[in-house]
Amino acid sequence: MSVPSGWVALVGAGPGDPELVTLRARELIGRADVLVYDNLVDRSLLAWTRPDCERIFVGKSSGRHTLPQQEIEAILVDRAGRGLGVVRLKGGDPFVFGRGGEELEQVLAAGLACEVVPGVSAALAAGACTGIPLTLREESAALVFVTGHEDPAKHQSQVNWRALPKDHATLCIYMGMGRLESIVAEMIESGFAPETPAACVERASLPQQRTCRAPLAELPARVAAAGLKPPAVILVGDTVNRGGGRGREGRPLHGRRVVVTRTREQSGELSARLAELGAEVLELPLIAIEGAVDPTIAGEIWEDLGSYDWLVFTSANGVRFFFEAYFSQYQDLRSLGMMRIAAVGSGTAKELEALHLQVELMPKKAVAEALADALIATGSLDSAKVLLITGNLNRPVLADRLETEGRAIVDRFPVYRTRPADLAEHPAARDFRRRGAHAILFASSSAVRAFAAAAGQLTLDPDAQRPKAFSIGPVTTKAMQEAGIPLDGEAVRASPEALVDLVRQTLSHDESSLS
Ligand code: SAH
Repeated sequence: MSVPSGWVALVGAGPGDPELVTLRARELIGRADVLVYDNLVDRSLLAWTRPDCERIFVGKSSGRHTLPQQEIEAILVDRAGRGLGVVRLKGGDPFVFGRGGEELEQVLAAGLACEVVPGVSAALAAGACTGIPLTLREESAALVFVTGHEDPAKHQSQVNWRALPKDHATLCIYMGMGRLESIVAEMIESGFAPETPAACVERASLPQQRTCRAPLAELPARVAAAGLKPPAVILVGDTVNRGGGRGREGRPLHGRRVVVTRTREQSGELSARLAELGAEVLELPLIAIEGAVDPTIAGEIWEDLGSYDWLVFTSANGVRFFFEAYFSQYQDLRSLGMMRIAAVGSGTAKELEALHLQVELMPKKAVAEALADALIATGSLDSAKVLLITGNLNRPVLADRLETEGRAIVDRFPVYRTRPADLAEHPAARDFRRRGAHAILFASSSAVRAFAAAAGQLTLDPDAQRPKAFSIGPVTTKAMQEAGIPLDGEAVRASPEALVDLVRQTLSHDESSLS
């Protein structure tokens, strides 16, 4: 049997913000059998891999140096040689100071296929995300990418600063933070004017982005005073004083760390809104959800499946785990029969529509009471059979009302259960314990209870920022009072938008430290 042909893709991961990754990068990450990555790659990209993808970290970790370049190349060639698809993910662009060139040569020399996917390089992100244009027709006609990384033992840098343009150009210096003072001294000695506008941009595109601007000669002292650290790019040239705005640093929640306590899929919307306003979002998954189908109940339901009039879903998880169980029993969607389908809200409906199942009924408000109202209002429940898909924690109100007010025959089918997540090793929890946050959001009473139950794993370090606590509405507030969590604010309406508005109003006026 011949080995299926392996491949390598050298893929740019962009400057950090996962939204700045190319579509092609995302596609290949999702397809990879093996992912080889290092420090500059944002960890959230790893979530796009297949569950069975082998992830190989080749960067610096505590107590270990970066893997030698030859070993990295050997890994690529070895895995692809065995017929696997290998994505070598690199910060920024793979061909800009990323050793991508060497890796391409080695992979091709081994007779393997290699695709190169460009990425947004750090200097481009530094310009765009600070509002500093890199070229301007009148002021800068050349854009120069320079590496500042040199052997500290060497006195003279290998960069020929004298040969580089001193005006009508913008210089972007990568890896310059370790030797910033000597780089600037060398530049001035080589003819750069000490007053040339310059900026240092740390962690461009990320919520932690910080910029420091100064005339070239003063930049090292200002960068040191501001405590800027790598990774950072230094921009030098007249365009640094042009453009405008503060880019991402001007967003209302920039520099704010906000914890989203997550018990459901819906928190994705909350996180996305906060991130758009510039916040650094820490999602604490407080509960884990797993399929849990009782075979006896399932057996009875499959037997009578054709007899139901309504199939009612109260969560997206319900849809997912119901169909997992269903397809372990049936080959074909048509075995469902002709029942009508109801969904509690749009997230649930979306899961159903993905299966091309039409949702006939969805209440305006995504709560059990509204779903009960809407179902009863159809007038179709009297003696009708309703199959109600649930988790293990659903309130009884929906089934009760369908039975008593609607006079329906309701069968409950629990298909998943929730249990407290283990936060001891979770990266977001670790980060929270160490640095704290400016705000913590509770969007449901179950999140409050799960948070209180996990409190032992969420104790803040002594110098961590103490967060303000915000509630989405009265029910959640009451749960906070019961759990002894002091309240700093409640949203005017029980919606993610209103909760985010509240955070925005409170935190963007608050001058607490941006540690
Ligand atoms: N291939 C990468 C560069 C790798 S060299 C690219 O195209 O961006 C590593 C250097 O990149 C760092 O020392 C720093 O100068 C720069 N860098 C990477 N990510 C950065 C970021 N988010 N903000 C500022 N500089 C960054």
